[in-house]
Amino acid sequence: MRLSSLSVLCVLAIGGACAPVPAADSPRAPVEPVLVIHGGAGVVRAGLSEADAAAAREALAQALRTGHALLRDGRPALDAVVAAITVLEDDPSFNAGRGAVFTHEGRNELDASLMDGASRAAGAVAGLRRIRNPIQLARHVMDDSPHVMLVGEGAETFAQDRGMALVDPAWFHTDKRWQQLQKARSDADAARNAQAAVADDPLRYFGTVGAVALDASGALAAGTSTGGMTDKRWGRVGDAPVIGAGTWADARCAVSGTGWGEYYLRTAAAHAICSRVELLGEGVDAAAETVINTDIPALGGNGGAIALGADGRMALPFNTEGMYRGWIGADGVPHVAIGRDDVEAMAPEPIDR
Ligand code: ASP
Repeated sequence: MRLSSLSVLCVLAIGGACAPVPAADSPRAPVEPVLVIHGGAGVVRAGLSEADAAAAREALAQALRTGHALLRDGRPALDAVVAAITVLEDDPSFNAGRGAVFTHEGRNELDASLMDGASRAAGAVAGLRRIRNPIQLARHVMDDSPHVMLVGEGAETFAQDRGMALVDPAWFHTDKRWQQLQKARSDADAARNAQAAVADDPLRYFGTVGAVALDASGALAAGTSTGGMTDKRWGRVGDAPVIGAGTWADARCAVSGTGWGEYYLRTAAAHAICSRVELLGEGVDAAAETVINTDIPALGGNGGAIALGADGRMALPFNTEGMYRGWIGADGVPHVAIGRDDVEAMAPEPIDR
């Protein structure tokens, strides 16, 4: 832990623990910036070709390089998070922006959120159909509106007011996602005919992207962007755009989640992780492990998350077959992994999964 940049103050916490927090009047020494990203949990190896895996790895590396270059220039964590997520939204490998999954009606409806740990400012958008980069609109909501969350047509009107162009919804149409919708529909029909429950298909609801960053001033930020669940209907919105569920950042901890959104909402997953850090004095690794691998499965859910502490420690837990993920730090080299066994690719940073 970089105690040189922190003063240890005793805060009242459950169990009487003390946690290091920055003293208000002591200037912080520069911190080594870190960026951690995910491209969704729930990887299904059998359905992932070598070419798809290589494309996803390259996109993750590009997102890491783009965000880290900003951090190296002394830009805020928030800028790095938006830049990294923008790269992933523009890449069809992921269920966000261009590669978003389809709704039951055959549309793409996009959600995103963003939070600044230092100020607790936040912006969120949901149900977008014509915004190429939802994370950039979430930034406008945070910076240029008195609100935290805007949805649907109102959010798109606000985007136009802010000078953002609307794209043709065809921009989001990819054949891979269209075929996933056809499969989800036929699985649902088959289950209905057999009067059985629809099998839990991880391809239905994973692939969301997210980023957490620590900048040179020691500030944290988090963001998440998604197309939601394949075959979703009735205006379903998951955890990704909900501050506290899919995204959270404060002075000590930043989290972006990916998984079965209903369970992340019911556990307030991202906030729960950071609350454990604040109130119990846990590291982000122990805190994320409990919420992702105990609390969410206890309710019947699954997925993963990335968490980053103000001390530069990170955690990338998941309980699915894999999670597209990566980090970049002092050496400027992107570390990228997909499967559960890709541990070496993520070394040498200590990672608790
Ligand atoms: N959490 C997202 C949702 O439920 C899906 C994902 O993580 O891929 O909308």
